[in-house]
Amino acid sequence: MKKILITGAAGFLGSHLSDRFIKEEYHVIGMDNLLTGSMDNLAHLMSHPNFDFYHHDVTKFVHIPGQLDYILHFASPASPIDYLKMPIQTLKVGSLGTHNLLGLAKAKNARMLIASTSEVYGDPLIHPQNEEYWGNVNPVGPRGVYDEAKRFMEAMTMAYHTFHGVETRIVRIFNTYGPRMRVNDGRALPAFFHQAIKGDDITVFGDGLQTRSFCFVSDLIEGIYRLLHSDYAQPVNIGNPNEITILQAAKEVIAITNSTSKIIHLELPKDDPKVRQPDISRAKEILDWEPKVSREDGLVKTLAYFKSVIT
Ligand code: UDP
Repeated sequence: MKKILITGAAGFLGSHLSDRFIKEEYHVIGMDNLLTGSMDNLAHLMSHPNFDFYHHDVTKFVHIPGQLDYILHFASPASPIDYLKMPIQTLKVGSLGTHNLLGLAKAKNARMLIASTSEVYGDPLIHPQNEEYWGNVNPVGPRGVYDEAKRFMEAMTMAYHTFHGVETRIVRIFNTYGPRMRVNDGRALPAFFHQAIKGDDITVFGDGLQTRSFCFVSDLIEGIYRLLHSDYAQPVNIGNPNEITILQAAKEVIAITNSTSKIIHLELPKDDPKVRQPDISRAKEILDWEPKVSREDGLVKTLAYFKSVIT
């Protein structure tokens, strides 16, 4: 049986990845320090014979006894309000944490995939963003702690690949949504669902004409699964190219929730990217992957989840 370590396992993506690899009959070691993750996301796996949970902070030395075949590094605060509140932890998990895990991958001869992000492109000057674009990031702005940690993470991963021959994979994840997102993580869709379900005002930042492209979580997990098992070490964008304004997203959430909430406009946060859309040509060509879930279906599934957790 193949053994896989998933860091950030109690988070949104880490828990869905844990489910997928359990389903594929891997032995999964889920690791999390529970800074932003929740054991609620893993409760259903805790008694599974092929799942172990290690409560550990990956910025400290990581010890895994015996065989290890794969590592997925998904630990990090990931929403803008989280990394504003935890800037040092965000920098440490992307840098020190990545270094520890690459060392572990080298020692165990394991293949490692890292969770990078569309934020490496910053406030992009080309549209849509392909993997050749180097980005437009403000290192000392509020988002710099996340963006630069992820850029460092990519550089360190590529260095271990080139100089130590470690098998590495880099996924650049674009906005993803679905069940198990934290209600109060501050991101647009959880915030809008929460507000719409409660009948509170919907807080659109700025004029709401900034755009994002939202990918349903099951599509993202399939792309990551394929990338891990590919032989491709350069970065690959995974996301849904269907781009909308944030105002449109707010209106869709209100409609699907059947809510009486009104939209209000608040100040746009500093360095908020004006546009974002993945160019997924590379994923299509190398992984034969593209998203399958329409936004309408994805939003219905997400609404069911938020209704179940918002009282
Ligand atoms: N946003 C918003 N209202 C909210 C939360 C976010 O209008 O309550 C906007 C935010 O300014 C950004 C977009 O929605 O333009 C997406 O923000 P999110 O925090 O989901 O992630 P980002 O894509 O910026 O990392």
